[in-house]
Amino acid sequence: MTENTKKKVSVYDNVTKQFNKAADLMGLDPDIRTILSNTTNEIVVNFPVTMDDGSIKVFTGYRVQHNSVLGPYKGGLRFHPSVNIDEVRALATWMTWKTAVAHIPLGGAKGGIQLDPSQYSINELRHITRRFTFALGNNIGPEYDIPAPDVGTNAQIMAWILDTYVSMRSPQERHGASHIVTGKPIESGGSLGREKATGQGTVYVIEMWANDNNFDLSKASYFVQGFGNVGSWTAKLLKQLGSTLKAVEDATGAIFNENGLDADELAAYVEAKGGVAGFPGSTAIDHDTFLRTKADIFIPAALENQITGETAPKLNVKLVVEAANGPTSPEGGDILEERGIDALPDILVNSGGVTVSYFEWLQNKRSEYWDLEEVDAKLFKTMKRAYRKVRSTKSEYNTDWRTAAYIVALSRLATVYRERGIFP
Ligand code: NAD
Repeated sequence: MTENTKKKVSVYDNVTKQFNKAADLMGLDPDIRTILSNTTNEIVVNFPVTMDDGSIKVFTGYRVQHNSVLGPYKGGLRFHPSVNIDEVRALATWMTWKTAVAHIPLGGAKGGIQLDPSQYSINELRHITRRFTFALGNNIGPEYDIPAPDVGTNAQIMAWILDTYVSMRSPQERHGASHIVTGKPIESGGSLGREKATGQGTVYVIEMWANDNNFDLSKASYFVQGFGNVGSWTAKLLKQLGSTLKAVEDATGAIFNENGLDADELAAYVEAKGGVAGFPGSTAIDHDTFLRTKADIFIPAALENQITGETAPKLNVKLVVEAANGPTSPEGGDILEERGIDALPDILVNSGGVTVSYFEWLQNKRSEYWDLEEVDAKLFKTMKRAYRKVRSTKSEYNTDWRTAAYIVALSRLATVYRERGIFP
């Protein structure tokens, strides 16, 4: 369904092109450009796991640490068939830019395992997760590299990582290590508001854009690709603003209703059935028809490389909001720009997730519990600051939103490198 799974494309090439465009425009110092063009550490682990039928299977897991000059490495773990070192490298690099745009003291990393979680029992997923954590060993740590949920992983998987990691520590160290992962279940040290955080941040950005453009969200229509954590929360929150959800696509297919799909009912249906296909009151549509949906906003919230040279001409919208990481290829982005479609970039739009992960990490370190109002208020403040900084940089450089967001991130990183210098 996605081009990514159909043919081999290098997602890291996309990051490099985006980076070079911004670095050229801002005149980034060549030494800093060289440093940031490389990842710091790339960890690949192969580990055996006993399956339910007694057989043993060997899995390959990745953790790429791109940069930690602003703080400990931070980024999600993905369990999906398309995971490979190139994709993880790209996702790790985007995390460095994202934490810099959000202005939180964290670096960038990402990890994952190439597998389809739906093909394994809960028991097998638990064993795979625990063995992966064991194999990573001291390559992760609460003050060093802190994983979180991403595609195919969730709060339960974070709880297993936490338990495995602390079990490998001495009893005296265990309670000081609960911030080894974020996105945990609430009772195991998670933060209120973390589950919806990426969707909430996405909706805050949409509201700020709408405000700038005198755009009435209560009359707006939109469609979403991906109805997991990010897609479903974005839709549930947009429903509260009165926007109409016209179409949704996920790994099981695409559905449409001109008069609107109810986001809460659809989320409950997906929870029960595992996907959007067959949702009562909807019509099944193919991928091409889905992309051509006439609406105000398209929100990709699944995988990379969905808006490409081939698909960007098909879009029938005013605004693209990148809730997913890397959904637009450089060619796709150029076409959106030529067509006058505004595109709000991933490293700004979906930074609500890592921001509330940072809040969870702080709460764990301080042994505190913040209430939801406090988390939401702090998230809003962080998103507003980031949005405004990117918006002013966009007009200063007379460029597109993505390049402006990169310039914000790269300027911060360059300043820190200049101030600290290179050891020794
Ligand atoms: P998820 O696993 O909860 O949901 C993924 C969704 O994508 C599912 O609906 C799945 O069916 C769909 N999908 C998978 N393969 C597909 C395909 N081939 N075609 C169409 N749809 C497909 O994952 P998520 O956490 O919601 O992440 C979605 C995106 O948001 C990813 O790009 C992720 O990196 C990004 N993101 C997530 C977070 C977070 O906090 N979870 C934070 C920032 C960015």
